[in-house]
Amino acid sequence: PWGIRLDGVTVRYPNGTVGLRGVDLEIAPGEMVCIVGLSGSGKSTLIRTINGLVPVTEGAVTVGGRRVDTARGARLRGLRGQIGMVFQGFNLAGRTTVLNNVLVGRLTHTPRWRTLVGAYRDADKQIAFEALDRVGILSKVWERASALSGGQQQRVAIARALAQQPRIVLADEPVASLDPPTAHGVMGDLRRINADLGITVLVNIHLLDLARQYGARIIGMRAGEVVFDGPAGSATDAD
Ligand code: ADP
Ligand code: ADP
Repeated sequence: PWGIRLDGVTVRYPNGTVGLRGVDLEIAPGEMVCIVGLSGSGKSTLIRTINGLVPVTEGAVTVGGRRVDTARGARLRGLRGQIGMVFQGFNLAGRTTVLNNVLVGRLTHTPRWRTLVGAYRDADKQIAFEALDRVGILSKVWERASALSGGQQQRVAIARALAQQPRIVLADEPVASLDPPTAHGVMGDLRRINADLGITVLVNIHLLDLARQYGARIIGMRAGEVVFDGPAGSATDAD
């Protein structure tokens, strides 16, 4: 697993809105962190600076000892290959199979001609099957993604991230569109990935109860700043 470090990171969007304000943060390799805060507090900006999706106005972002904010081209693609992403809206290709969706996680490991004709190697398919098995939906491998429930679709997205064999998984509101029991199931999967595979996991979540239950560490954000940072047991609504 890789650690993550932000040093004095400020993000100002082109329209002048400040997404992050001088954030200093250190996340050790193998941590399971939940980031909580109201809508607009900067959670998503924080996650997107870590995989280089948002330009940093000031400061430095370091992932696995490598600068992300100044990385470009092949170097940036290489870093992103080590970071699995999970989104609120699943971002699956609904019309194709679960297997094909998970194989997307193998793209950067596969010669281009193979991806164009869909001739993935058996070893890559095996990695996809194992990822699906880990999140409990191997039986859905030949289904169309759009035929699955929301919870199952999010598990496909987690399996796709796992198929990358990433060092870090970043999840941006992964349970915001799921009902409470399903949300528990998905948070449990994320926690297991952290515990069993040792992958560093960061989850944005606006529900403090779930964050406390599944995160070992809670980071609270407000108006682009970190206003709370501590072990899950110590986080209260007042924070
Ligand atoms: P959260 O994930 O906690 O809802 P965000 O990181 O999405 O918070 O947003 C932080 C602030 O940055 C908000 O004021 C939001 O409106 C603003 N913001 C987010 N993305 C953009 C963007 N692409 N352009 C301009 N402002 C943005
Ligand atoms: P789907 O098939 O739609 O993906 P899930 O498999 O995610 O639905 O369902 C989640 C299951 O996990 C539910 O049956 C729920 O009872 C159970 N569960 C696990 N942990 C908890 C918890 N802490 N609180 C409530 N339900 C939980």
